[in-house]
Amino acid sequence: MKKQLVILAAAALILSAAAASALAQQAQDPDFAKSVKEWTTRPEFLSPLTDHLPKVSGIPSPKDVLGYYVGTPKKLTHTADLYRYYRALESATKRVKVIPVGRTDEGREQVVVVIADEETIRNLDTYKGYLAKLADPRGLSDDQAKQILAQAKLVYFFSGGLHSAETGPPEMLMELAYRLVAEEGLVFDQVRKNMIVMIAPAFEPDGRDRYVDWYYHHKINEETESDRVPGPPYWGKYIYHDNNRDINYSQVTMRNWLKFYLDWHPPIMHDLHESVPFLYTFSGQAPQNPTLDPILYAELPWLSNFEMTKMFSYGMPGVWDHGYVDMWSPGYLGFMSSNHNGMLRMYETFGNGGANTMKRTVAPEPGAGPGLGGENQTTREWYRPLPPYREVVWSMRNNTNYMETGVLSALEVASANAKTLLQNFYEKSRNSIQSGFNDAPFGFVIPAIQADMTRVAFIVNILRLQGIEVGRATSEVKLKEGSYPAGSLIVKRNQPYGRLAKILLEKQVYPDQNLRTYDDAAWTMGLMSHAEVKEISDKAILDVPVELVDTLNVRGTIQGDGSLLAVLHNGSNSLVALRYRLKDVKFEAIEQSFKSGDTEIPAGSFLIPASDRVRTEIQNLSLKAVALSAPPSVPRHDLDLPRLAMFSTWGSTQDVGWVRYAFDHFELKYDLIYKEQIRKGNLRALYDVILIPNQSRSAKSIVFDVESKSTPIDYAKSNEFPTLGMYGESSDITGGMGLEGVVELDKFVKAGGVLITLGVASFLPADYGLTPTIDAQRTTPQFYAPGPIVEAEITQPANPIFYGYTSKTIPVRYANGPLLRVPVDDRKKEILMRFSGTDRSVLSGLMRGVAETRDRPAIVDVPSGRGRVLMFATNPCYRWQNLGEFNMLANAILNYNDTPKASSSATAE
Ligand SMILES: [Zn+2]
Repeated sequence: MKKQLVILAAAALILSAAAASALAQQAQDPDFAKSVKEWTTRPEFLSPLTDHLPKVSGIPSPKDVLGYYVGTPKKLTHTADLYRYYRALESATKRVKVIPVGRTDEGREQVVVVIADEETIRNLDTYKGYLAKLADPRGLSDDQAKQILAQAKLVYFFSGGLHSAETGPPEMLMELAYRLVAEEGLVFDQVRKNMIVMIAPAFEPDGRDRYVDWYYHHKINEETESDRVPGPPYWGKYIYHDNNRDINYSQVTMRNWLKFYLDWHPPIMHDLHESVPFLYTFSGQAPQNPTLDPILYAELPWLSNFEMTKMFSYGMPGVWDHGYVDMWSPGYLGFMSSNHNGMLRMYETFGNGGANTMKRTVAPEPGAGPGLGGENQTTREWYRPLPPYREVVWSMRNNTNYMETGVLSALEVASANAKTLLQNFYEKSRNSIQSGFNDAPFGFVIPAIQADMTRVAFIVNILRLQGIEVGRATSEVKLKEGSYPAGSLIVKRNQPYGRLAKILLEKQVYPDQNLRTYDDAAWTMGLMSHAEVKEISDKAILDVPVELVDTLNVRGTIQGDGSLLAVLHNGSNSLVALRYRLKDVKFEAIEQSFKSGDTEIPAGSFLIPASDRVRTEIQNLSLKAVALSAPPSVPRHDLDLPRLAMFSTWGSTQDVGWVRYAFDHFELKYDLIYKEQIRKGNLRALYDVILIPNQSRSAKSIVFDVESKSTPIDYAKSNEFPTLGMYGESSDITGGMGLEGVVELDKFVKAGGVLITLGVASFLPADYGLTPTIDAQRTTPQFYAPGPIVEAEITQPANPIFYGYTSKTIPVRYANGPLLRVPVDDRKKEILMRFSGTDRSVLSGLMRGVAETRDRPAIVDVPSGRGRVLMFATNPCYRWQNLGEFNMLANAILNYNDTPKASSSATAE
């Protein structure tokens, strides 16, 4: 080992000399140097790594293909042109390979560009095989591992453009790719030889194209901070910025990246973002998830400190690596790497949301809150010894120089230490397996005879998607925690991704009440799904014989024969899909449970005339039914489908997007409406139910939405900008529904409509007088609840909203909705669910000031005129996570005109 190092060092010296002369000889593009100098707004914003560009005959630079240099003012590149560039590079050199990864929602390609020396590119599959062995070292002897480590190459994966308004990284990455292929010099030779660099040119291709269209349509003439036009209403199809919070990989684009990751196992993923000045490099600060490997927590600051060192040595100010994003939530997209024993790295550079040069005020406005975005990033701190300037003229080229200098510094340290980083990857994988033998919990049991197996399948299949092994016990399992029959689902911790299984399934114990976190404090899958997952501290679980499950498919069952089918309401979200699939069939819901033979048919179960088609769909949707020969003598009502609208602001479509995604997934049919349709009125003639999902920050911002400017801002289709006007069109997205819109909503309710509001949207009926008796209050500044899972108590279990919920208290994700207050006399009638609000009711994560929520309503149902307003202080459709709560929303929609009956009534409505 030692000898090898000496040889390497000697080789490095020789290379260094060779590289120096190569650099001297390599022809340079003088126009590039001149232009870059001109576009860089201060000399210290340029580095010796980016002030020049070599010219190599036969190898196209971005300008050769696109006609402009990276960082040219007012130039942004669509994905087709990004890919065109990379493919031109691929055809010109044997150092590049473009790998297709999949297709997005809107059918765009996702690709990864691989760069290395010719030998490596020729033998990519071999190197992929080595990484697979290091990712799952079970069965490797120490000697075998050493041999593989000696031959394997470190993959360093870059991604840009996950957030579409953060426009710089997809541009910079083209220039980086060109340099990595064409530039001579020690670092470049070392990178090509020792490593494989991968580039995802646009992590969210749909959003990239929409944003570039929007930029050319609306933003290209911006000159000052005050003329800036807001971003487009949509990036990708559904979820905007939350594409970086899709912990369960609901979105097809994100799922494709995960599949690529698990195919290739890049030990380092480096996701390039833009927000704070001038360059923040993530170092994994507290709160940290203690389950991840200590090596990771040492690697992160090592690399970010190296970048800072290099950039300070070039005289570049404003680089810092602490005081921003922490290491608690595992739900960020790039965390797929940390979660699988690799390493997520992340930058935030300063961007202007386009490609215009403008003066920017960097210090926060007076009065900016204590939130993570409001802090002053221009102060000198121990982790920011050379802070960003308070005011700066900033350009796309500055941004490019910063990112590229940082990234080239990262590649310098990584290529010089490629073997150490590979060894670390192997050790982290091995430690993960070993920790399953050493540390409780040793595993999890997911009982396989739960009332609703569709949510069990959801959990198991997400674990499988993440590469976690799940087995089925081949015989009865006896553990200290209890006995479980053969067929029970077993997750053992002594597997490569055993740590991830623990992170996803355990209850989150927040380490320090005084620490804030960048995103959610809790995500426990069993609690979110209302499915039973047993944590096991009995080591015997590791020896339980199992058969591995590939995908858990739950077969629907129909017991017996008869002309009527009772489909059990056991809380499955597939029930609503069944209703919509068979929309022309008569459905009834029973209002009380009854027994058919030994089977308990719970309240809310569907009665449907039997037919082959009905039977097939029940089976397809994994539901349970019992055939009856005659209708039971319990009260029941028609389950007719409402004409349903979902309202979205133009300025805050993201949380609506999650509800759209869930509704599309569970096949609910709705019109997506905006202020235009609300203002037009006549709503009761068109709709029975209007849903206002959680969105925006307050009732006022839902009503007035995007601030009006002197000129309208349209979001409409055109030949020139084909991606605009998707998912809704507007000739002017500003102004909101306004007070006239509120009046129309009030008319809708008074005329018999049902208005459903979720989370923050529940401020609206209270604050704007649709429910004059209800107050919506806010928590104190001391209160802090970053998405904990808390207990709520169902106070009216007979209400159809709670069909399928069998216990009095249920876990709900706290949504920071209003603290509702209902007059004393109405409480019994109008409050359907309330927060317990005791210390022990915080089931996972952090809620500081829990007493502020004590006995506050979580759902209220308030009559108004001939209609009613159903207000959720919770958000029963949060980021494809709390699928246990979704049924309350589905039930509310299916039973929209069926208030609970007195128990004596036996007639259908
Ligand atoms: Zn971002």
